[in-house]
Amino acid sequence: MNRTVIEKWADTVTPFYYYDLDLLRQTVETAKKEADRRGYILHYATKANANPKLLKIIFAAGFGTDCVSGNEILRSLECGADPGQITFAGVGKTDAEINIGLDNGIFTFNCESIPEMENINRLAEAKGKTADVSIRINPDVDAKTHEYISTGKKENKFGISAWDFDKVIAKLKVLKNLNLISLHFHVGSQITDMSVFAEVCLRVNSFNQWFKEQGFDLAHINVGGGLGIDYQTPDRNPIPDFAAYFAVFEQNLKLYPGQKLHFEPGRSIVAQCGSLISRVLYVKEGKTKDFVIVDAGMSDLIRPALYHAHHHIENLSSDGAEKIYDVVGPICESSDCFDKDVPLPETKRGDFIALRSAGAYGEVMASQYNLRLIPDSVF
Ligand SMILES: *Cc1c(COP(=O)(O)O)cnc(C)c1O
Repeated sequence: MNRTVIEKWADTVTPFYYYDLDLLRQTVETAKKEADRRGYILHYATKANANPKLLKIIFAAGFGTDCVSGNEILRSLECGADPGQITFAGVGKTDAEINIGLDNGIFTFNCESIPEMENINRLAEAKGKTADVSIRINPDVDAKTHEYISTGKKENKFGISAWDFDKVIAKLKVLKNLNLISLHFHVGSQITDMSVFAEVCLRVNSFNQWFKEQGFDLAHINVGGGLGIDYQTPDRNPIPDFAAYFAVFEQNLKLYPGQKLHFEPGRSIVAQCGSLISRVLYVKEGKTKDFVIVDAGMSDLIRPALYHAHHHIENLSSDGAEKIYDVVGPICESSDCFDKDVPLPETKRGDFIALRSAGAYGEVMASQYNLRLIPDSVF
């Protein structure tokens, strides 16, 4: 962030989310180009950031969307998403949300349990429709990421496990208003070890073959999202290596002729274009360490408190000699700490502090805890 941008913020109320839309456009174009070259289809995971300005750019570039609530479907449609490119996941879809999907003719419901399949069938029948569905498979793969963002182990609540497949197939025979079109997988988030995706591919191959042997000619395979980003050195890797990521699937996945491969990237599209900008309220000298108390807190960006996530922290106003600080928010919780022992140039009241790589799972998770305001966004 350069000085002229920062000068413009003099009268802006902090904290706020700052989005670099040029970086977003470059990221979106890179992902799309690398996917198009291989014939892959991208559905942006709206839950990572549902800011309308960002959504419009992403959908204008030709992304479909992956939604996890009825309101995400409605927001995506308002921002230009193609209803025929909406996937709808989630273990607890309500009747009202399923009806939003049915009424808008979405691409597919990613079913996460047999009772859910029965319910979608009932609601589709009531409307005289057939719902295109996918089975979300829990492939029992360790995503090697934080346990709260790991979703593909057998002990996680997500997806249907292999031992239930016979029951699923028996159900599909009687549920006349469901049409199975795809198998869906999503094993976790912030995955940086590409061998995890290679392992997913091997599981997908065996499940794909098994469903084929049961007589299903599935037109689609959906491997979800999960590609990680560089939180440590965001300026070194502003755009994730989509080419290397897709290459893992190109090399390891066996698709049947005509089968289309779908992805649902969220974090990798939006994380690096966003920063949470705050002002320093006080610098408090402690016995063993000094605290930088900023006006942003865990209500604005909960990832450090919730997942022990690391965000690179910068002082945008100072170029003094480096000191070590704990950077904390104003909220009455000890977990309201953005990071400990952070090297920063000597910091004073009023300095602008940037928490980098906050474009994904930041603004969307903001709360009003302590009756604070939801942060604004600046572009
Ligand atoms: C959250 C989620 C995604 C996106 O994950 P990222 O790690 O942000 O890429 C994709 N698909 C499903 C089903 C999800 O729940």
